[in-house]
Amino acid sequence: ENAATEQTIVLVTGGSGLVGKAIQRVVEEEIPDDEQWIFCSSKDADLCNLEETRALFEKHRPTHVIHLAAMVGGLFHNLRNNLEFFRKNMAMNDNVLLACHELGVKKVVSCLSTCIFPDKTTYPISETMVHNGPPHPSNFGYSYAKRMVDVLNHAYNADHGRLFTSVVPCNVFGPHDNFNIENGHVLPGLMHKVYLAQKEGKPLEVWGTGNPLRQFIYSYDLARLMVWALRSYTEVEPLILATDEADEISIGKAAILIVNAFGFRGHVVFDTSQPDGQYKKTASNAKLRKYLPDFKFTPIERGIQETVDWFLHNYEQARK
Ligand code: NDP
Repeated sequence: ENAATEQTIVLVTGGSGLVGKAIQRVVEEEIPDDEQWIFCSSKDADLCNLEETRALFEKHRPTHVIHLAAMVGGLFHNLRNNLEFFRKNMAMNDNVLLACHELGVKKVVSCLSTCIFPDKTTYPISETMVHNGPPHPSNFGYSYAKRMVDVLNHAYNADHGRLFTSVVPCNVFGPHDNFNIENGHVLPGLMHKVYLAQKEGKPLEVWGTGNPLRQFIYSYDLARLMVWALRSYTEVEPLILATDEADEISIGKAAILIVNAFGFRGHVVFDTSQPDGQYKKTASNAKLRKYLPDFKFTPIERGIQETVDWFLHNYEQARK
């Protein structure tokens, strides 16, 4: 029995994105001798294509996989592209999990999202509610494709005994995010808008009322939790990775934190002709807290300040 000395090869799909870059930084702080980590992007393989996916997995022969690759976008990008969000994410998830099964990968951790839960629901949302009712219509394509990851995980387990599982992050933000105003998520989009408003001496225009409530997790906190999940979480059932419910804040309040991080002195106006999206998606992290009662999340003020500083220092190369 030489299991203890067997090399662990972790392949991270979507390794060039917001979450992938954070995981890379976290594991590089301390890689155990028996672990090798490989971070892939769409340049290594188009995971919508089964043959390219198989070739990538044959090349690296991973023992463990963190599957992050996805077509991801904010409310406004989703509203216009539900078909593409559904088809691309369905294809990527099916191809990646099939390749993992064919190679006998020991463990896969894939990513769902708290925005895929039923629109009409009781709060707080918990892991058991993934399939309880239709998602918010704004992003039904993305949501149903993500929900099918959980179906695949259970089917691979039922039919083949595989340990393919998923985690369910709330809204993520941090360095390497997509700061595109039209297509990105709310925090990076607002950061880019404040940057431009400051440069042009114009007011900051926030889309929507600013009232919706969200939980935001700093990408490095999520990264630490996902690395823990890969090593230590052994259920097929999803695990919500969210900040505490008390840390939920309104989009208006988040906008003010961003304004403060930039030292922006202009006016802030809310364009209420724009849609708000779902009012809230409050998720419970009680299950996570059972496993890791003492985990400390980075205060959102600090995460926002670090992200704004990163954006300012990397403006030229940042996705925008
Ligand atoms: P990003 O958009 O930052 O990164 C997406 C990654 O997927 C990139 O590495 C990209 O590669 C890769 N990718 C996209 N399309 C393909 C493809 N066809 N073939 C191969 N690779 C592809 O996403 P995030 O880091 O924000 O998201 C990571 C995961 O977390 C996703 O599964 C997402 O659904 C989930 N999640 C994200 C949340 C958030 O708020 N951001 C919230 C909850 C869940 P390339 O760089 O080459 O384009």
